[in-house]
Amino acid sequence: MSQSITRWLPGTMRTVGGKTDEVVIVGAGLAGLSAAMRLAGAGRKVTVVERESKPGGRAGRISDQGFEFDTGPTVLTMPDLIADAFDSLGEDMNHWLTMEPVAPLYRSFFADGSVIDVHSDTDKMSEEIERVIGSDEALGYRKYVDFVSDLYKYEMRSFIDRNIDSPLDLLSSDLVKLLKMGGFRKLMPKVSQYLKDDRLQRIYSFQAMYAGLSPYDALAIYAVIAYMDSVNGVFAPKGGMHAIPTAMAAAAAKHGVTFRYSTEVQSVRMSGKRAVGVETKDGEFIPADVVVLNPDLPVAYKQLLDREPLSVKRLKYSPSCFLMLAGSSKSYDHIAHHNIHFGKSWSGVFDELINKKQFMSDPSLLVTNPTASDPGLAPAGKQVYYVLFPTPNLDADIDWTRETSRYRDEVVRTLESRGYEGFGAGIEVEHLTTPQDWADQGMERGAPFASAHSFFQTGPFRPGNMYGENVVFTGSGTQPGVGVPMVLLSGRLAAERITGKDSNYRSRAWR
Ligand SMILES: Cc1cc2nc3c(=O)[nH]c(=O)nc-3n(C[C@H](O)[C@H](O)[C@H](O)COP(=O)(O)OP(=O)(O)OC[C@H]3O[C@@H](n4cnc5c(N)ncnc54)[C@H](O)[C@@H]3O)c2cc1C
Repeated sequence: MSQSITRWLPGTMRTVGGKTDEVVIVGAGLAGLSAAMRLAGAGRKVTVVERESKPGGRAGRISDQGFEFDTGPTVLTMPDLIADAFDSLGEDMNHWLTMEPVAPLYRSFFADGSVIDVHSDTDKMSEEIERVIGSDEALGYRKYVDFVSDLYKYEMRSFIDRNIDSPLDLLSSDLVKLLKMGGFRKLMPKVSQYLKDDRLQRIYSFQAMYAGLSPYDALAIYAVIAYMDSVNGVFAPKGGMHAIPTAMAAAAAKHGVTFRYSTEVQSVRMSGKRAVGVETKDGEFIPADVVVLNPDLPVAYKQLLDREPLSVKRLKYSPSCFLMLAGSSKSYDHIAHHNIHFGKSWSGVFDELINKKQFMSDPSLLVTNPTASDPGLAPAGKQVYYVLFPTPNLDADIDWTRETSRYRDEVVRTLESRGYEGFGAGIEVEHLTTPQDWADQGMERGAPFASAHSFFQTGPFRPGNMYGENVVFTGSGTQPGVGVPMVLLSGRLAAERITGKDSNYRSRAWR
């Protein structure tokens, strides 16, 4: 049966045809590494070609004067998905990485001075809610946990953890269950059905921002992200987040994967609809039976495949962020590992960032203090602060060459007014990343959280992971989407397109 017919039959997965023995993966981001491990485990000869001198992509590392800074993800959820990648090589993740639960998951600070610690343990969190708000709200919280736990179960097996070739693939009993639960209604009213307190509503809906959406516009199905962190837990690897790609690359290399670092791919060489290899910037040709592309999908299309399909051109992008990494002599006793500081404004934050494309006038922000869990990430007695302010992406009319130092000072002033006394004076080492820098690193519109996960950019409507006969995309620009858990899955889905081992195999995370 021809591929064009099989792909429209629900339940059948389109796969790469022809020879698949030698695979070239462009990019050693978490998605590329996840694909490499699974393909090596399935007996393929894998070469990973990476532009930078180390693996990790967005999960990168800056080492400066004894401070070790993670440059991207800090909130690690669903570590079973990492273990799953190690499993595919017959390796035990625990031999490669030490993973500790982070407790509390977050400390949330509110404009009225109240503080709520977020715990994954339902009893502990109920106690915290009873202490700060009251017992009715604690009961609502328990019901909300049941709601997101069901969402997770139905969404993962039918919508996220599988290759989807057609919207028809979604027709399942799980879809009916999600409809009945109100999964396709708006998130904010759904959250407020269970939680009446404005502070808890924020704690259990802000995760929509990870998907590039306002909780007022997002569908309730996105509460599944709240399940992943606030119910399933947040973890911290020893050595920081960058320890994850380092360990994944080392395990892959042990099982025969070749890594070509500091090698930028310039284009994919095609012969008709079939890729025959990649050309590097230095003029080298690396032949391949299959090419896997891990760079941001719209950029990969434009730069490596020399095309921009209309469906990709039309994509709308998530907000971006301004990141300050600070090595400091200052310590703050009142903070935890992850700290969310909410401003007075809530819907206004999303209106400014997404609709008006302006800076937040009353910011909500994240401060991560990884040295709270792992003092080894800084010289003795010093601290690492990772400060993330959401900003509009490059669709906004903001000239970052002019705004960077002004905004940096605003960030420091805001921190000092939110309890980080003397923050500016304590800084010994500082690194800033702006939306322009994200764009320069190869992220479309300077949006490190990829194209937004609006309904028509999700599941079968998100750009698919196959092009031509044997080019497979992996990473946050394709299905299932953005974030560490999703891109690890995306690597697995890419590998399944090549090995043909399909979705009967399910990750240990939701077996
Ligand atoms: C500031 C920030 C905070 C975040 N916070 C979180 C969080 O707390 N929790 C969470 O789960 N997620 C978070 N994320 C999202 C998460 O980090 C990403 O979704 C994920 O890391 C993306 O992985 P990827 O493999 O798709 O892409 P990338 O990591 O971007 O990998 C792509 C790789 O391709 C390489 N490459 C690109 N072009 C070429 C070329 N031409 N030739 C060779 N190599 C090339 C790049 O160098 C890179 O290594 C955050 C992201 C950022 C930026």
